[in-house]
Amino acid sequence: MKPALFDYFRPTTVEEAFQLLSEYGDEGKLIAGGQSLVPILNMRLSAPECLIDINGLKELDYIHCEDGWLRIGALTRQREVERSGLVREKSPLLSEAVPFIGHMQTRNRGTVGGSLVHADPTAELPLSLLALNGSAVIESADEKREVGLGEFFVTYLTTDIRPGELLTEVKIPVDSVPKGYSFQEFSRRHGDFALVAAACVLDTDNEGRILTARLTLGGVDPIPVLAEDAAGILIGEKLTDTLLAEVGRIAAMNVDPEGDLHATREYRLHLARVFAKRAVQIAYIRATGKEGTS
Ligand SMILES: Cc1cc2nc3c(=O)[nH]c(=O)nc-3n(C[C@H](O)[C@H](O)[C@H](O)COP(=O)(O)OP(=O)(O)OC[C@H]3O[C@@H](n4cnc5c(N)ncnc54)[C@H](O)[C@@H]3O)c2cc1C
Repeated sequence: MKPALFDYFRPTTVEEAFQLLSEYGDEGKLIAGGQSLVPILNMRLSAPECLIDINGLKELDYIHCEDGWLRIGALTRQREVERSGLVREKSPLLSEAVPFIGHMQTRNRGTVGGSLVHADPTAELPLSLLALNGSAVIESADEKREVGLGEFFVTYLTTDIRPGELLTEVKIPVDSVPKGYSFQEFSRRHGDFALVAAACVLDTDNEGRILTARLTLGGVDPIPVLAEDAAGILIGEKLTDTLLAEVGRIAAMNVDPEGDLHATREYRLHLARVFAKRAVQIAYIRATGKEGTS
């Protein structure tokens, strides 16, 4: 199918984009990489009066590190994140996660901001950025605000972005980069959205005791889930098989997946248990060089 008719604007500054957003209100739709929006328009699930193409906003295309934050502009292509040495050094979890997004062609066009705002609950960027305790910088003509990703995702395909606002940047704290990280996902074919995905970052002391841990799960609720209870039991402990089994059990208890065409509820719960454990175990091995003991 083809999209309904729309007007098209390509601003070259954020101020121009804000002007268009306030002029068109709900009838103006931002387009970045177009990798999610264009299929939606083609299927006529959305028929905005105008498209505001933000590909001319070069000021939103950057990756740099400053004042203890890794800052990534919203228009940065996913492929740039994948190839960035700075991201590999400061945030290896992201470097590991991004190649799972679709195919190279998708990542060449798809942007960091577009993936976050599209807010698919299995998408790799939302899941990893939540594990990394990232924040979204959101701007409008009148206001600039920063929202932790724990509050940013509201429900399926819905975020805290309000009419007239633009996501301009994501920020990840990198003052101390956890030594352990792991991104794991299960999909039917490479390039498909995950059925279930898990991301973990953790740090240990010299004895292998876990000092900090964040674990997130995707595909098991309408938004990416921060599995705080499951990660909480790791703190102060060395990893054992018993502890790992408990992490999986609690992680699966704290999610509420729905069955669909691709997987039953029970299968998703099983995958949540398995992939939570796998993400924690690999992160622990990377942090300590040890598998843990039984
Ligand atoms: C074949 C295929 C396979 C894919 N597989 C995966 C996958 O496995 N995992 C995955 O995560 N994704 C996958 N995707 C989606 C891909 O990651 C998209 O790039 C992403 O979902 C949207 O990014 P985009 O830049 O293309 O945004 P667009 O499609 O341009 O926009 C998406 C939404 O975000 C809004 N938006 C965009 N930028 C901003 C901004 N800066 N501020 C406010 N609102 C904004 C738009 O208005 C729209 O509502 C796939 C896509 C395709 C076509």
